[in-house]
Amino acid sequence: MLSKLCPNLYVGSLHHIDFSHLKGIGVEGIVFDIDNTVTMWGSTEIPATTRKWLEDAKTHGFRVCLLSNNRKNRIDDISRMLDIPSAKGFKPLGSAFRSALCLLGTLPQETAIIGDQIFTDILGGNRAGLYTILVQPMSTNEFITTKFFRKLERIVLRKLACRGLLKQEDSDPHNFTE
Ligand SMILES: [Mg+2]
Repeated sequence: MLSKLCPNLYVGSLHHIDFSHLKGIGVEGIVFDIDNTVTMWGSTEIPATTRKWLEDAKTHGFRVCLLSNNRKNRIDDISRMLDIPSAKGFKPLGSAFRSALCLLGTLPQETAIIGDQIFTDILGGNRAGLYTILVQPMSTNEFITTKFFRKLERIVLRKLACRGLLKQEDSDPHNFTE
């Protein structure tokens, strides 16, 4: 079970992800979680640096989509603002990831999921066969049940680190421009 909770890569934020690394391992499509990955929880405000990173991902030739179980109206608003298609689905269910893959037109092994939650983004992504990237949440403001799961996440991260399973990217942020 612990292996299904282990991200392939653990980084501080989107800006620490190296596009050339993703290209090198055959990634062609990227699925993005929304809350606390590209926006603050419950907000439709997207930092300019995040917008630029997402634009850069497109420029590098990646197919991109959003995947969230949030309200459809909110997902649609963010999708329009970023000009990125969106799928709605309840992570970690496989059907959510199949919807995203269908939207991207990529195979699981050609696709990465980037998200801030182990029990939804990472567990679901691993089970669906995607390359999984865990980012640290953009803020501590979040849903009450998420706060509970954060405690479990900390335990999981400690265990993964103790067993040497956690691949972290500690270097300076890549592709980051203020
Ligand atoms: Mg999230």
